[in-house]
Amino acid sequence: MMAQLADRVAGVGIPGWFLLLLSVFIGSFLGTVIRRLPEGRPIMMSARSACEACGARLAPRDLVPLVSWLAARGRCRYCGVALGWFYPGVELGALAVATIAITIDGPEQAWLDCLLGWWLLALGWIDLRVWLLPDALTLPLLVLGLLVTLAFDPEDLADRAAAAAIGYLALRAIGWIYERLRGREGLGQGDAKLFAAAGAWLGTAALSQVVLLAAAAALLAAAAVGLSGTRIRAHTALPFGPFLALAIWPLWLFGPIHL
Ligand SMILES: [Zn+2]
Repeated sequence: MMAQLADRVAGVGIPGWFLLLLSVFIGSFLGTVIRRLPEGRPIMMSARSACEACGARLAPRDLVPLVSWLAARGRCRYCGVALGWFYPGVELGALAVATIAITIDGPEQAWLDCLLGWWLLALGWIDLRVWLLPDALTLPLLVLGLLVTLAFDPEDLADRAAAAAIGYLALRAIGWIYERLRGREGLGQGDAKLFAAAGAWLGTAALSQVVLLAAAAALLAAAAVGLSGTRIRAHTALPFGPFLALAIWPLWLFGPIHL
């Protein structure tokens, strides 16, 4: 795997290097989206412009993804406050998405993989932080899935559109039943919309596998949380969006498993 990865990255040429370089800047942008979108703050108007602790204006040299953070050892150059792992974390996540996409599909085909991967990274991260999958991200992702289908697999359009509708209704139904049985909301509307988007990108054949993979990942995470010493009770809950995102991307990269 590592040798194959090194070969691919060494042999990617301009498009591959450009995509890898671009990915950390995309990561920086996603960091802004993840922070600002749930609060309704404008995203495009201004980049991060000041230190959140001391208010010092940030110069371009303070905003180079990963490099600025490493150069200042994770601290604000002006007041010395620890900047935390959030921005470098998202930037590394975006870089990982590009690296995996190039390894699997090659640099020419990796763009679409990256677009979906980066989008899911932002959605999953927001859900993890604030338990919300914003319509402003899930609904365009659904439309984009249908447009991509129209452009590359037009013969699948009916199936993907049906999968989007089935996905939405199925998760709403499960959520409704859960609420009836347990008396509280277990799956949000955002989960249903993200699942609909999964249908638009992956088609009907993959829907059940998305749920199975996401549920398996969620159980593993719950077990890990349990091992870390937090007692799991019936009302301890995890957001489902990150696990849906985690399931959707590999199914897009490798296609549904044929049993
Ligand atoms: Zn500062």
